[in-house]
Amino acid sequence: MKKDIKSMTLPELKEEILLLGEKGFKAAQIYSWLHKHGAESFDEMTNISKDLREKLKNNYDIYNCTIEKKLVSVYDDTVKYLFSLNDGELIESVVMKYKYGYTICVSSQVGCKMGCKFCASGIAGFVRNLTAGEILSEVYTAQKDLGIRISHIVMMGVGEPLDNYDNVIKFLSMISDENGLNIGMRNISLSTCGVVSGIYKLMEEKLQLTLSISLHAPNDAIRSQTMPVNDRWNIDELLTACKDYIKATNRRISFEYAMISGVNDSDECAKELASKLKGMLCHVNLIPVNSVKERSYRKSSKDRMESFIKILEKSGINATVRRTLGSDINASCGQLRRGEKNC
Ligand code: SAH
Repeated sequence: MKKDIKSMTLPELKEEILLLGEKGFKAAQIYSWLHKHGAESFDEMTNISKDLREKLKNNYDIYNCTIEKKLVSVYDDTVKYLFSLNDGELIESVVMKYKYGYTICVSSQVGCKMGCKFCASGIAGFVRNLTAGEILSEVYTAQKDLGIRISHIVMMGVGEPLDNYDNVIKFLSMISDENGLNIGMRNISLSTCGVVSGIYKLMEEKLQLTLSISLHAPNDAIRSQTMPVNDRWNIDELLTACKDYIKATNRRISFEYAMISGVNDSDECAKELASKLKGMLCHVNLIPVNSVKERSYRKSSKDRMESFIKILEKSGINATVRRTLGSDINASCGQLRRGEKNC
């Protein structure tokens, strides 16, 4: 099998090129084609000799994302892609337009092992991890298709990024590389359902990205009902890891809280949440839960959400309701892939 050239960092690529008996500086040219210009074939690399292009073709493959479906929201220009990968697996990415620029929400796995009850991503289980090159391709393909420059990345698509740790860290280093798209870590968010071992590992990387935690409940009884990961690491363990993370990185953590009517949205829940988060350098993002066909969860009312927010704010906890984008195109997690594969 040929090697996956897009998943190689510049130093790795340089080593390969030297082994092919070529000059090291060629690696920088090839890297720039792949990661600055989003080249999808070796023939696009016009300043590389034909001879070397042939050598590259014989030794490496460029794995790309192919657009299978593209949905554009009539409300807000949100674009959702269904991409196919080389082995025919399907993944999703969403591009959102904000005042400050374009943000892409990327998937990190095909399917998911985590099994959160309200989420469509894991209903059919886990298939495989994405490589660093495949996650990069989500960004490059969308950028090229839309003719825009993406400035922000959120790892909030299908999959649990901390369950695909090495590939995700590699992706982060390559997307922020000045020889590639050079997207600053401060413009990148990574969301986890609470894989505590991964949070500690990430802490050691000392990255300036924003860590988001999908909390969704103020206590173990409620959280375990909807999120199996809570049986592995409970809320206390998770919040201790968050506090350690904040201390080590001095970065504010963002807590995601999907409001599910009658499940986690009472005033009591708000008070309990406020007492658990009090004094932490954090922000709470309330999201009206998106209904998923296979599940019966309903979103909380506007009034309920406002009352919840007031209680958090009274305790000095910064909280906002997340704007819903792309509501007409199934823009949330896993829904498009599921519809397509009927899996
Ligand atoms: N596995 C990671 C990354 C996925 S991020 C994580 O869990 O954080 C996707 C975010 O959308 C998570 O916060 C997830 O809990 C949330 N989510 C999933 N299904 C949802 C739904 N039906 N309504 C609202 N939010 C949902």
